[in-house]
Amino acid sequence: MTSLTGQHYIAGQWVENDDFFQSFNPKTSEHNPTRFSNATSAQVNDAVVAATEAASQFANLSIADRAAFLRKIADEIEVCGDQITETAHAETALPIPRLEGERGRTLNQLRFFANWIEEGSWLDARIDQADPERTPLAKPDIRTQNQPLGPVAIFGASNFPLAFSTAGGDTASALAAGCPVVVKSHPAHPGTSELVAGAIARAIQHCRLPAGVFSLLQGNSHSLGAALVSHPGIKAVGFTGSLAGGRALYDLATRRKEPIPFFGELGSINPVFLLPHNLSHKASAIGEAWAQSLTLGVGQFCTNPGVIVTLAGDNYDTFKNRAVETLKQTSAQPMLTEQIAGHYYSGISQLNKNPNLRCLLAPQDSVGSCFSAPALFECDATNWLTDPTLQDETFGPCAIIVVCQSVDQMLQVATGLSGQLTATLHMAPEDNDEAQSLIPLLSEKAGRVLINSFPTGVEVCHSMVHGGPYPASTNAQSTSVGTLAIRRFLRPVCYQDVPDKLLPPALQNSNPLNITRLIDGAYRGDAL
Ligand code: NAP
Repeated sequence: MTSLTGQHYIAGQWVENDDFFQSFNPKTSEHNPTRFSNATSAQVNDAVVAATEAASQFANLSIADRAAFLRKIADEIEVCGDQITETAHAETALPIPRLEGERGRTLNQLRFFANWIEEGSWLDARIDQADPERTPLAKPDIRTQNQPLGPVAIFGASNFPLAFSTAGGDTASALAAGCPVVVKSHPAHPGTSELVAGAIARAIQHCRLPAGVFSLLQGNSHSLGAALVSHPGIKAVGFTGSLAGGRALYDLATRRKEPIPFFGELGSINPVFLLPHNLSHKASAIGEAWAQSLTLGVGQFCTNPGVIVTLAGDNYDTFKNRAVETLKQTSAQPMLTEQIAGHYYSGISQLNKNPNLRCLLAPQDSVGSCFSAPALFECDATNWLTDPTLQDETFGPCAIIVVCQSVDQMLQVATGLSGQLTATLHMAPEDNDEAQSLIPLLSEKAGRVLINSFPTGVEVCHSMVHGGPYPASTNAQSTSVGTLAIRRFLRPVCYQDVPDKLLPPALQNSNPLNITRLIDGAYRGDAL
């Protein structure tokens, strides 16, 4: 069992300073014992300068060695065993089985990226061969491949202390791309972050990599995140969190002297459309299943299904009654932080005051505690369509049901949606015509369209998209989950008439890596 030190890990050294903060146990409302150092701007600079110094060597590491590094990180996290999940439990109050699942996902993500980068298609190596005989001008030899962007800043997410924090999906995809990483840990779980950083530190030593490949900065001040995003050595940012925080950091990233890409995963209300025939067959079952999905993890998932869009009528009443009954049986649970619980209650208080809404269920205010219970509101579609504030996310187990008078009105609601991570349809075969109208509309609004399930639970695979138009994310062209996430941290570089021996390996004629390449319009894995 490793004792927590409360230190930062910067370029191979564990360091501290004399300004401290403590994490909070949301279940007991007591501080956890370890005091963690608050990083200074000089320490931000140390971490980024070391990352910059390591960038070239890490970018030019063989793909096999980079994959071995990712696998070693996974092995080292696995060796930490229960200490990681127990520490995360004390810091987040997330149940141990959930944290064990999240640790498994973290290891799988690292190993998945390791296996996938060895396959090589992410390099997108393209070769246009020279044609000296072409007239009127000879055609040059032009080859291109993706290369790492350089040092990346990653912000740990409060709601995924393992899978979207220190060695989570953002870090795994940046390291897989060949970019050094500087993590700004989330101040709600610094102990978990330190343990995971220890595992990465051991992997760096074992693989004999330059120390600046990874640093962890602890802290609970906005100035730390701002200093990191503003540092000229940082070339891209990965972020998951609030719309306000993400937008502030995005604005900083784009206002820099050298603007950089900022990949923020922000807010989403994840609408679920209930089509009429399906509702007539399964109103009660869908009401119960939806309520369970809404309260999963105390509603603290970015994919929480926070809005139902449905038609008025008896079937809707059956759905609503079952949903309310199920939500009433859900006991109050601790949220991740006092601040998140505070936001939840102030969000509900705003909704309660909104004349466009009818309250179906509201929890007692529990100021001073992290515990929260579900809340449910109902709204006529006409009011929804004229009140954009109703599309603001209330992070937690809170939802609004939008009641429509016709399928046309459901289409109007879909048309008026802001950008979403997900949009879901519940349909029977007889609902096919309505689905055919809705799916293209929803695909314009969301990064992922689902049929007959709920969006919580994001599969890590090649085809996953966890992103979407603003405000779901700050870059609708990207995803933060799945192998496509690597594209965020790469840029294409073109080589014209460069002698074969001087080209990167994947572009050489002998193609020593045996990587599949696009050659004059056709993919070929063999030598030219
Ligand atoms: P957050 O407040 O946005 O914080 C996320 C990270 O950004 C933290 O490391 C925070 O560090 C930093 N930060 C926030 N605002 C900043 C600013 N203006 N300048 C510089 N750094 C800044 O998110 P959170 O703590 O996870 O939760 C708060 C709210 O975020 C929730 O109530 C919920 O609404 C939303 N949230 C959404 C998702 C989602 O997936 N959509 C996930 C989690 C949370 P410091 O606090 O140390 O400055």
